[in-house]
Amino acid sequence: MTDAQQVEDSKVYISYNHIHQIIQESAPRLKKFNPDLLLCLAGGGLVPTRFVRTFLKEKDQPNVRIMSVALSLYEAVGSVSTQQESIGKEVVRSQWLDYSNGFDLIGKRILLVDEVDDTRTTLHYAVSELQKDLVKQCAAKGIKVEDANTTFGIFVVHNKLKPKNATLPDSIMNDTNYIAGRDIEDVWIAYPWESNDIVYHTKRAIEQGNDIFLDENNNYIKK
Ligand code: 5GP
Repeated sequence: MTDAQQVEDSKVYISYNHIHQIIQESAPRLKKFNPDLLLCLAGGGLVPTRFVRTFLKEKDQPNVRIMSVALSLYEAVGSVSTQQESIGKEVVRSQWLDYSNGFDLIGKRILLVDEVDDTRTTLHYAVSELQKDLVKQCAAKGIKVEDANTTFGIFVVHNKLKPKNATLPDSIMNDTNYIAGRDIEDVWIAYPWESNDIVYHTKRAIEQGNDIFLDENNNYIKK
């Protein structure tokens, strides 16, 4: 078997249906968190965020608002002058929240949405930056941060069970505020929106059991 084939075989393919179903199953927890703002971490969070909104919709109530920030994770090579190359991961933000029109984080229940919690670097960065913004906004209004009544939560479709490179505050890492649709071993996940060939992608997802499945009574079987 070639190396390329081995890499291909090790990927876990996930279909759109499967993602939709995972988010549907997470609906009770999403409703329990009860966000008044969905903060999409683009690009991976784009499609999941829209699905999440569907399952939060209550009859005769407006949709939960979605806002997006754009973050990318890059290889960062440390200072060469130290003669030691420390290679790490650096988050670069190309788009952030616009506070210029009076919008702020005070008093809100904000659910960050991304597709996967891998090393946790991105989620850590996003939460830390939001916390800094909140501190500034509270100072500007003469409010103590503890009295701001702002709650951050996280939804990811997949959480990889692996040692993480960064932490999240205890206020998030609990059953209510940290919601992972599925825990998964440390594998490379192929998401459908990255595919150039959705027929092949979906076929692989079905073969691997990562689509929706119905039993003989047409009931959904959780995989
Ligand atoms: P982090 O390491 O900061 O938790 O994840 C950063 C980003 O890397 C994720 O938002 C995602 O875009 C990408 N990533 C990490 N693991 C995977 C994976 O298994 N599959 C795909 N498609 N992207 C991943």
